[in-house]
Amino acid sequence: MHTVTLIPGDGIGPEITEATKRVLEATGVSFEWDIQNAGEEVYKREGNPLPKRVLESIKKNKIALKGPITTPVGTGFRSVNVLLRQLLDLFCCLRPCKTYQGAKSRYKNIDLVIIRENTEDLYAGIEYEKDSEGAQSIIEFVKKSTGKIIRQDSGISIKPISVYGTERIVRSAFDYARKNKRHKVTAVHKANIMKYSDGLFLDVSRAVAKKYPDIEFEDKIVDNMCMQLVQKPELYDVIVLPNLYGDIVSDLSAGLIGGLGLAPGANRGDEYAVFEPTHGSAPKYKGLNKVNPMAMMLSGIMMLSHIGETTAAEKLENALASVIKEGKSVTYDMKPTSDDPTAATTSGVADAVISKVA
Ligand code: NAD
Repeated sequence: MHTVTLIPGDGIGPEITEATKRVLEATGVSFEWDIQNAGEEVYKREGNPLPKRVLESIKKNKIALKGPITTPVGTGFRSVNVLLRQLLDLFCCLRPCKTYQGAKSRYKNIDLVIIRENTEDLYAGIEYEKDSEGAQSIIEFVKKSTGKIIRQDSGISIKPISVYGTERIVRSAFDYARKNKRHKVTAVHKANIMKYSDGLFLDVSRAVAKKYPDIEFEDKIVDNMCMQLVQKPELYDVIVLPNLYGDIVSDLSAGLIGGLGLAPGANRGDEYAVFEPTHGSAPKYKGLNKVNPMAMMLSGIMMLSHIGETTAAEKLENALASVIKEGKSVTYDMKPTSDDPTAATTSGVADAVISKVA
């Protein structure tokens, strides 16, 4: 019996979580689900989108399966997703992007793994609002120490990248490569422009790479990386990035394999792991039983492997792959056109997968 914290989340979260829970249970592995709500509705009810009980539950169980949580744009509460990763020190975001036969994509045979640093960079949450005392003192400090002028009406976000944070994420990328028989790690940066943050990321990546002579290493500037991934994705294998580039390149890579509906993820630290799809809460589809639950199911498969249930993980992945290959019981985003009347519902996909697991 595995006790897992289950966070249904906002928008489409509850429906894809229910579908995922059902297919995981169909593998025969027994779970005790510690259901913990967090997000927009909880914020309205309790005044805090991430109550202490949620963190305590993950700390107790060590493992969580999480649906997406809405982040209000501009105002309102800060991202619960980012906060969770920071508070639990889930520094490694692992996002495999693999094409399944039958998936609607411009590319075949993609097999990339994106490893994104999760706690630093522009996502560290150190920001100063326009006209605030903090923003004004930074503007004065920068003027005094560099002679450079930041416009008075600026909002400011700080981008910290440390040796400690970079070393552990790059080591995770190489360890992952070694363990999973991957041949190359590519570090992505913009060190030509940001010499002290991205420059540090690059220097540390090179130093760590020297300790793994069995794995090929290269680096790429992020803009070039985006173009390369669109033109020649087959040249890449494991890609390690600071937080912001990792976020963007994850979605780009999801686009290579047939969209966000197929892109799973894991946020891992030394003590805890939270499994969640790459996509967000897609609020316009809330309650329609329409969206693709496969990204969350694939995240569930990653969770099964993580807890040592590798046979169940393989069985479930094969069932999912077979549903995708048949192309019958898949949601609108995997059909030739999005208004295809034969598109399956979210729960219909779960039924189809369960029928193949049994
Ligand atoms: P989104 O990923 O929710 O949706 C973008 C579009 O992708 C959707 O309109 C839909 O067309 C498609 N899509 C997403 N998931 C799909 C699925 N399972 N099946 C089929 N199509 C799918 O991105 P957004 O609209 O930018 O963000 C919505 C909210 O989610 C925001 O509040 C954002 O902050 C939040 N978000 C949360 C997480 C997370 O919880 N980890 C991640 C990203 C975004």
